[in-house]
Amino acid sequence: MANTAEQPRERFTNFTPYEMKKGEEYMSADMLEHFKNLLRQWKQELMEEVDRTMHHMQEDAANYADPSDRATQEEEFSLELRTRDRERKLIKKIDQTIDRIDKDDYGFCDQCGVEIGIRRLEARPTATLCIDCKTLAEIRERQTGI
Ligand SMILES: [Zn+2]
Repeated sequence: MANTAEQPRERFTNFTPYEMKKGEEYMSADMLEHFKNLLRQWKQELMEEVDRTMHHMQEDAANYADPSDRATQEEEFSLELRTRDRERKLIKKIDQTIDRIDKDDYGFCDQCGVEIGIRRLEARPTATLCIDCKTLAEIRERQTGI
């Protein structure tokens, strides 16, 4: 498991929080649509970031002749490649989540089945566990070690 702290744009914040209507059911069609839009915008943003990284690397590649500069550059490149790799994985996760929305299988904990909750999903749209199960999973992960 990668350290979540270094995930790129793990939080997408450029959206209007969903206001539940009176008597509206959890994960109504409107709500699902809201999350689908949110995920699509997030994916768009990530894909633009990947593009920028690629351009940056191509531009930089030509600009270094000095060996010590090259070493620095190689470090930078490997860092950028790792970032790109994480972005790719995140994009894949977003696609899988959109797929789940299409199958009407979104917003409930994979482990115990409770509602994950709108605010938690807005903070982490790809979450598949409720906060309790997630906390437990993290504790277990820490105990088993990596
Ligand atoms: Zn749960």
